[in-house]
Amino acid sequence: MPPIDPFDDTSDDLPFYEATQLRFHSVAELIGLDDSHREILSAPKNELIVNFPVLLDDGRYRRFTGYRIQHNNILGPFKGGVRFHPSVSLDEVKALAALMTFKCALVDIPFGGAKGGITFSPADHSRGELERIVRRFTHALGANIGPEHDMPAPDVGSDAQAMVWMMDTYANSSHSPDRTAARRVVTGKTIEVGGSLGREKATGQGVAFALEHHLAETGRIVRDMTVSLQGYGNVGSHTARILAADGAVIRAVADHTGAVFAGDGLDPHKLAAWVHEHGGVAGFSGAEPLSAADFWRVDVDICIPAALERQITSTNAPDIAASIVVEAANGPVTPTAERILLERGVEVLPDLLMNAGGVIVSYFEWVQNKASEKWPVTEVDRRLRTLMWAAADRLLETRDRLGCTRRDAAYAVALDRLRTVYEQRGIFP
Ligand code: NAD
Repeated sequence: MPPIDPFDDTSDDLPFYEATQLRFHSVAELIGLDDSHREILSAPKNELIVNFPVLLDDGRYRRFTGYRIQHNNILGPFKGGVRFHPSVSLDEVKALAALMTFKCALVDIPFGGAKGGITFSPADHSRGELERIVRRFTHALGANIGPEHDMPAPDVGSDAQAMVWMMDTYANSSHSPDRTAARRVVTGKTIEVGGSLGREKATGQGVAFALEHHLAETGRIVRDMTVSLQGYGNVGSHTARILAADGAVIRAVADHTGAVFAGDGLDPHKLAAWVHEHGGVAGFSGAEPLSAADFWRVDVDICIPAALERQITSTNAPDIAASIVVEAANGPVTPTAERILLERGVEVLPDLLMNAGGVIVSYFEWVQNKASEKWPVTEVDRRLRTLMWAAADRLLETRDRLGCTRRDAAYAVALDRLRTVYEQRGIFP
């Protein structure tokens, strides 16, 4: 009898956290993870919700809600980004925190998984308000974060400046005798205050390295391949620039403001400058406008969702012309859409591997801060490539051994590593 597919009767509406849980349980079954380890890993260790007031420029106070979910720390301190977006919810942050545990385990870095966020739109606030929101959130988190305990990083809507405000607030409110340790309470900082060279582009660089590995499996290279990207923020814009430098042709880009198309390829640097100035891709003079529905139909070899979760659904999956979908975002393909894509012969390269470059270089930043070192960007990239390729090798070997999808293989590698550590350490007391 074929194994029961837990996603058989699910729909695109399956909440993100539930989809992550179902995936976890189905791979736990596949590798025979025992009940106690399954029990531990099936819920976050800590869930923190903070409500805090912030003074707005017009003299009023507004209450904000923030989250920090610490999923698991058996492999090392909790690690994961903070998201500033109106869609941030407990469900979303719990799913993203679990993905961080599995991602760190897959790429073999000594970190656990966490995620945080604040439910608001940064674009609706002045720089002064933004700074007060970030600092008040950090204060509310208090000793729940720390340089050896839980280290946030940037995610959707947050950036290096937000990390510096978090670090400064933490440093000024903690009474640790090791004052310089406070620097590494966050990663993804600006270079001047202790960030790592290569961190800003790291997720995009990791996407490029993992894609290179994937193509090499069948003797292909990225040169002359056509690409579309959804999301032109940190991850999307760096991925586009790196792939274009390797000879890829960027044909279409979509974001929250619209979509643009250029059959012969658009200039990813000019588009990045446009987005910086205008806040989105809409109106970019170096390309034609495109409807959101047509964006997914653009004839390309590689489609790279690099925005939010649940963007490729059963509605648009049948239209996707690309033969490779690269999950640069977390959870961009619903389980239902993934089944449609796989049935159509589309290769789906899973988020756990593809966007791990960010947390890997965050780990390098943390190590450099600890040792008071500053590595050249060539060294950062060399080490990043080594870890990405080693993880990709393990994923493929596991996929071939288990005869499963790439996503299930990524989970299997991660769960196997977590199981080994739980077996050796035992469960206290
Ligand atoms: P970002 O804030 O820099 O960019 C987000 C992009 O998504 C923007 O271009 C925005 O316009 C677009 N977007 C937002 N809402 C949209 C919508 N409804 N429809 C279409 N586009 C929309 O964020 P980022 O850091 O680039 O993160 C993007 C994804 O990559 C997220 O899933 C994030 O979790 C994941 N990720 C980020 C990192 C990192 O280092 N920043 C690391 C790993 C994974």
